[in-house]
Amino acid sequence: MTSKPVSNWAVTVRRQDPHTLMDLETESFCQEYLAHKGTVVKPYYWLTESQTCIRCPYHIRTGEEARVPYAEFHQAFGFPYGPTHHQNKHLLFYEVRHFSGKLMQKGHATNCTEYNIHPESMLFEMGGYLDSLVHNWENAAYIILYSNYSPCNEAEHCCISKMYRFLMKYPDITLCLYFSQLYHTEEDLPVAPWNCEALQSLASQWPQV
Ligand SMILES: [Zn+2]
Ligand SMILES: [Zn+2]
Repeated sequence: MTSKPVSNWAVTVRRQDPHTLMDLETESFCQEYLAHKGTVVKPYYWLTESQTCIRCPYHIRTGEEARVPYAEFHQAFGFPYGPTHHQNKHLLFYEVRHFSGKLMQKGHATNCTEYNIHPESMLFEMGGYLDSLVHNWENAAYIILYSNYSPCNEAEHCCISKMYRFLMKYPDITLCLYFSQLYHTEEDLPVAPWNCEALQSLASQWPQV
């Protein structure tokens, strides 16, 4: 798969959104585009409609478009009846906060079923969304994630490794993680030790994590 040029889309560069962005930087993100169905972030290789993934390419959404229906939220996070097992759906909300604590940007990310990409992997990838965002906003100090699953470190995703690399690149960023259930840590899974170990090692990065 190669990148599809953004000009294929009827897009406008998103300027400032008064609800989500502070007046800290007047520069807009050149990676963020407002398309007819939502915000498309970064000309990604999956910037194309997909037959099998209903969310492609809108996996990262910001501002008002990041709102999800209550039913979807309850189903993903398992409230109020407890987690729904075996669901292959990741829903992750993120917030980026200024060192004063003020909200700079928030949104959500979902996994891609077509290309098997986890939301953490999309967000924390070098050259990915958060990398560009933090690079553009020097005053960003906190990234807070609220997810229905803990991040994994499975070979085809490497979510935690990407988070590590990100934190090393931005030592002034503090990462806070909240999740409602552990992902692939059941004893009978061969990947469980990887995930558990990586999660513990990420947690040991206190106070940065
Ligand atoms: Zn997708
Ligand atoms: Zn993962």
